[in-house]
Amino acid sequence: MIEMNNISVQEVKGVGPKLAETFEQIGIYTIEDLLYYFPNRYDHYEQKPLHELIHNEKVTIVGEVIHEPTVQFYQRKKSRMVVSLRVDGAVVKGVLFNRAFAKKHFIPGEEVSVNGKWDQHRLQITIDNYKKGTIDGSSPITPIYSSKGDIKNTQFQKVITSALSTYRAQITEILPTSYLDKYKLPNRTDGLENIHFPSSFQQLKHAKRRFIYEELLLFQIKMQLYRKRNREATKGNAKEINMEEVKQLIKQFPFALTSAQKKALAEIFKDLQSPYRMNRLLQGDVGSGKTAVAVISLYGVVKAGKQVALMVPTEILAEQHEESLKQLLPADVRVHRLTGSIKGKKRKEMLTEIENGSCDVVIGTHALIQDDVNFQNLGYVIIDEQHRFGVQQRNTLREKGILADILFMTATPIPRTLSITAFGDMDVSKIDEMPKGRKPIETYWVKHNMFERTVNFVYKEIKKGNQAYIICPLIEESDKLDIQNALDLYQQLQEILQGKASVGLMHGRLTTEEKEQVMNDFAENKVQILVSTTVVEVGVNVPNATVMMIQDADRFGLSQLHQLRGRVGRGDKQSYCILVADPKGETGKERMRIMTETTDGFVLAERDLELRGPGDIFGVKQSGLPEFKLADLVHDYRALETARADAVDIVENEWWRNAEFQPLIKYLLSQIEIDQQLLN
Ligand code: ADP
Ligand code: MG
Repeated sequence: MIEMNNISVQEVKGVGPKLAETFEQIGIYTIEDLLYYFPNRYDHYEQKPLHELIHNEKVTIVGEVIHEPTVQFYQRKKSRMVVSLRVDGAVVKGVLFNRAFAKKHFIPGEEVSVNGKWDQHRLQITIDNYKKGTIDGSSPITPIYSSKGDIKNTQFQKVITSALSTYRAQITEILPTSYLDKYKLPNRTDGLENIHFPSSFQQLKHAKRRFIYEELLLFQIKMQLYRKRNREATKGNAKEINMEEVKQLIKQFPFALTSAQKKALAEIFKDLQSPYRMNRLLQGDVGSGKTAVAVISLYGVVKAGKQVALMVPTEILAEQHEESLKQLLPADVRVHRLTGSIKGKKRKEMLTEIENGSCDVVIGTHALIQDDVNFQNLGYVIIDEQHRFGVQQRNTLREKGILADILFMTATPIPRTLSITAFGDMDVSKIDEMPKGRKPIETYWVKHNMFERTVNFVYKEIKKGNQAYIICPLIEESDKLDIQNALDLYQQLQEILQGKASVGLMHGRLTTEEKEQVMNDFAENKVQILVSTTVVEVGVNVPNATVMMIQDADRFGLSQLHQLRGRVGRGDKQSYCILVADPKGETGKERMRIMTETTDGFVLAERDLELRGPGDIFGVKQSGLPEFKLADLVHDYRALETARADAVDIVENEWWRNAEFQPLIKYLLSQIEIDQQLLN
């Protein structure tokens, strides 16, 4: 049998070469593409009492035909028919243009339903559609297709109706019957018919449920196949970890691990010891102690005789990590920091040691695993603060032939629905508990007119020997956005404080060296107040900073505010976050309130997702978040979890070998570029 994805859309009755071309422009080539081009909304006219109808809107009216309609012809082919209807005891005039043939449908004494534009003043309706008899509460639901103006909606409807009736038999089911039964989903044929031409909203909902599930399942199977490939391609990289040595190291730590850290470590060590390659995401709020987890796990790997690369996004972070590592690891572990600022002979020496294996751990930026750096025995790659790391980049890493175990660390709490979508091909460990004894950061929301008081507050903290960040949303003045600019604020503060405190300025227009200089001055307390744009966001650790003041805080999303707030509260002193904002909208106010109420990053992330949608949490493009046709990551999270569990089942049990799953897999292969070998 020829399937509908093999039939060109041009085969459909009424589609000529020209229309076919227009269809191609919106990605419709085959009948399948056509039928999967779902309406983006539906028009539906509900029957309401006359007094509730709104002038100039489309309405539905049911009434009794009072007498035979009158028809007037004018010009050559034009006509105007007028029909009087008795509705709710009133008389309503219906006007129908150029459809004189419809006269026979309006029989005196009988009921008809009409819909069209309502004229409240003349009690008149311009009829678009009519139907004999009453409607049972649910008048026709009309699909509306978005086609950017090139294809008329009626034409769309016609073509789809025609395709549905001619090629009905070619619509083959792709979901296993057992799944349809289990979830009470309509089959593909009914689903397609009902999503285009539903006879009730109930039916439409049912049809949508099916395609949402189908879409999510296919996506999740793809992710699981990637995951499987990554694991299996690297059989044989099991490491012999001496857990006794690891325990000894942990004993020497200045603190006891939290149970969340222990759990994450157990998961990581299990991966390291298994023959599969680790592809794991370690999620943990700022300050939750991810570095400690990284250090302990890498120590195990070093002791197993392999080298480790620790990648960070900036040089400052590389330095900070080097310090932490030196503090926490025994002296016999050789750590190098390889960044752009290390050049010449020193660099050469390091490269030699990396190559001959006498260096155990290399910390550096991205270039670390791409350049002329040749490891003798790279067994483990840790990537820190890469919350914007998407599927694409992860695949790049893979294509570079890096077969080591990989651990990604991120401080951006990612709601579960997003993480199983964007990181569906990874395993996830979560540190959802803060080390004991942390003083929660106190968060206040103030208005701009309290500027002087807040500056006073900051100054008091500085007199105690503490430091402060002040964050501004944009570097350049923009009248339109009315955003306070970092430069202005910097100058203003210098004036106010008159040498009583040193103020630094940091923004994206500075060169890398200038940025490093400012950051170092701040880290060494040569600068007490750092005015900055959001470049400071990424993992910098200055435990002496106790104030995070954020200007125009309502312009940031919750996750970003949380990220910024996490820059303070890193020592044992009480820290403060001051949100300066006069939000106009409710959402902005809501965001400020939530910030003052919770410091739990996961709670904030969930709320952010609800308030702003997934695209805003991290850019859709970078994150590898797919754009779904129907599924909505906030509202369809249950379907997403179900689809994920089913996909895991299918892939782990290699169910595509069962006849029942053949059509699904075949369809998947026709939809995406995926290596056929994955299925062997
Ligand atoms: P993250 O990288 O997750 O933001 P870090 O690893 O930098 O967090 O840890 C933040 C601070 O907390 C560090 O000073 C670290 O030494 C400390 N720390 C980590 N784990 C614990 C723990 N279990 N108990 C007490 N302090 C801890
Ligand atoms: Mg960190």
